[in-house]
Amino acid sequence: MLNFTTNENLPLIKAPSLIVGGGMVGLTLALMLAKKGLPVIILEAVKYPENTESTPYYSSFDARNTALSRRTVQIFTDLGLWSVLQEFATPILQIHISEQGSFGKARLDATQEGLESFGQVIENAWLGRVLLSQVRANQLITLIDGVNVTELTQDHEFVTINAVKTTSEDASDSFNVKSPILIAADGRDSFCRRALGVGVDEHDYGQVALVTTVQTSVLHEQQAFERFSPQGPLALLPLCGENRRSIVWTVPTGTEQEWLGDANDARFLDALQVTFGNRAGRFEKTGKRFAYPLSQVLAQRQAIGRVVLMGNAAHTLHPVAGQGFNLCIRDAQVLTNTLAVQAEQGDDLGDHTMLTNYEKSRLTDQKRVIRFCDSIVRGFTHSNPLLKLARNTGLLAFDVFPGAKQMVANYAMGLKV
Ligand SMILES: Cc1cc2nc3c(=O)[nH]c(=O)nc-3n(C[C@H](O)[C@H](O)[C@H](O)COP(=O)(O)OP(=O)(O)OC[C@H]3O[C@@H](n4cnc5c(N)ncnc54)[C@H](O)[C@@H]3O)c2cc1C
Repeated sequence: MLNFTTNENLPLIKAPSLIVGGGMVGLTLALMLAKKGLPVIILEAVKYPENTESTPYYSSFDARNTALSRRTVQIFTDLGLWSVLQEFATPILQIHISEQGSFGKARLDATQEGLESFGQVIENAWLGRVLLSQVRANQLITLIDGVNVTELTQDHEFVTINAVKTTSEDASDSFNVKSPILIAADGRDSFCRRALGVGVDEHDYGQVALVTTVQTSVLHEQQAFERFSPQGPLALLPLCGENRRSIVWTVPTGTEQEWLGDANDARFLDALQVTFGNRAGRFEKTGKRFAYPLSQVLAQRQAIGRVVLMGNAAHTLHPVAGQGFNLCIRDAQVLTNTLAVQAEQGDDLGDHTMLTNYEKSRLTDQKRVIRFCDSIVRGFTHSNPLLKLARNTGLLAFDVFPGAKQMVANYAMGLKV
């Protein structure tokens, strides 16, 4: 599949299609393209281990857990991956929403909504191991990891990038890749987006997400909780093992240092108990905490010549409702179908009009999800007493009116079908 020539003394690889960024989105997209018979090269900065049996944490595949919507689970099923992924996935059967110090609360029950589950929680590290081994085994995918893309140019026929080996001391240890299309899935601070001069609309929430795994005295029984506290929203998701739960706790930037580090385990567990109450019993043990600064980043354009932005490079959301990855995967599915039709017709995979049409077709879904996440964060972090009353009555009304429940069931925690 690879065709090496040289250009300006550097080795040149000609790629039928190219993804920059082999994180959760880049690897999934490559598998989707391959499933449609489209060969692809992925360039990834992290040097992944050869043996994925005991993969420690890597950028995208870190200590986090991801709530997968039913549609995302269906996509992984269609890719033939779900039977393996589900070994470390936990279904969500109930969702409880409440606010600390308020009487309003709401409950969603999958059985009452006529669903098998609201979705599944999976450990990113496991998702990474499975995606990586599938990508490596796929004849149509070439993963070149441990390389940093540092230059990007394009003309009417090709996009050309320069990639430098991150493992080499020698700065000249680099090569070029030329492709009719480049899909930039290189994360929130996307090099490709910056190289193309694409601006972003950015909102810094002044918050960080503290992420960890805890053990509780009460079994989780596949229940997920979203608790709004004065510091910020706190999400508890059920994990494999009957009393293991994932925590995503949003706190104001600057306060996270209080909770990081092994010495602060006991204080963290106490604070969690006070904020969450006793619904999960006692918080008995905590894992290491990791902190993620939170901002909303939206690229002002997603199709630029022969380049299309994907994943966090296109939009990065607040994780409050667990929507980010699910939205990225819906984008990836639409792009894959578009490119498959283009290939079938023998047309140019990097055709700008086609990529612009793809972008337009995704904007409604993207804007709706972005508004939804943003309004939850803003609506629940305001301490105005009138707003608090509105939230209380809102949550009560929500518990009473089935229509309202169904609407939130569709969106909450990334579970929109
Ligand atoms: C705390 C938290 C909890 C979340 N929970 C959920 C959830 O429950 N459900 C949900 O749907 N979403 C969730 N999300 C969102 C989800 O994690 C993101 O949408 C997803 O990780 C985006 O993946 P990505 O591959 O686009 O970006 P990234 O994970 O950032 O991957 C980008 C990749 O590109 C590589 N790269 C970067 N620059 C270069 C370069 N120059 N050259 C080569 N490679 C490069 C990086 O090494 C990396 O591997 C959560 C996010 C956070 C912060």
